[in-house]
Amino acid sequence: MEDRIVKALGCNNSVRIYCATTTNALNEIGNRLNYLPSALDAMGRLMSVTVMMGAMLKLEETVTIKIEGNGPIGRMMADADAHGHIRAYCENPHCHFEYVDERLNVKATIGDSGFINVIKDLKLKEPFIGSTPIINGELGEDFAYYFMVSEQVPSAVSLGVLVNTDSEAVVSGGLIVQVLPNTPEETIVELEKRIQLLPTMTEMLTSGLTLEQIIKNIAEDARILEEIPVEYKCNCSKDKFSRGILSLGYEEVKDMIDTFEKDIETTCHFCGEKYYFSKEELVEILSHTKKVN
Ligand code: ZN
Repeated sequence: MEDRIVKALGCNNSVRIYCATTTNALNEIGNRLNYLPSALDAMGRLMSVTVMMGAMLKLEETVTIKIEGNGPIGRMMADADAHGHIRAYCENPHCHFEYVDERLNVKATIGDSGFINVIKDLKLKEPFIGSTPIINGELGEDFAYYFMVSEQVPSAVSLGVLVNTDSEAVVSGGLIVQVLPNTPEETIVELEKRIQLLPTMTEMLTSGLTLEQIIKNIAEDARILEEIPVEYKCNCSKDKFSRGILSLGYEEVKDMIDTFEKDIETTCHFCGEKYYFSKEELVEILSHTKKVN
């Protein structure tokens, strides 16, 4: 099934609902960079929340989420736009824990202290930057806390990933429910009850529910506003890497040429794509650098 995001309005247009699947996008990065199950679980959650936050943006706006926890996965980062494009990176995709409770797995992987940083490029002079501490490490609650504290939007966030023994994600998805300022108190109370009774995101997706059905479980009157396909998309290129080498400066590039043995390998942190530079290409890059002194 294709990954997608569905946006809806429910409860007399007073509640915004975002629901997304990121299974294929997650497996793409997992296969390219050999993610182990716990790292894949943590990354799937980050990717789901990031695509949904991307879907809250307009046109050319983008969002970058950085998670800096004290767990073995290290720094995590994902960025998305309003068109369902996502890319993501973590320092250590090769971490895994054997807990029966998958939520503990994620906590152990990400860590239970640190920060969530959200950077939104809204095409204004300055980007929007929001930052909240990690309060739980399982990410759902952490992002509910982020929305409340940093954006003053009361939200329920559910994120889930199921990984099989071959380190493949069977499902990966998320749900964000946000109350608008005009939401009546009784609707909020009713909504809280419904959300508490809701199975986990992983359970709903593995039982075969569609995103639309999940949304209807929250608000029967939900009206689908938009559906956006999700696609893993990295904007790296050989040209970008050659500019990266250029930025090292004359001495460094000269040294690379002088000690050249075989093609220089560069790897994109996000997608794992490798770009190689021959001696001739390095000489070409050197010609664009400025010799110091
Ligand atoms: Zn890339």
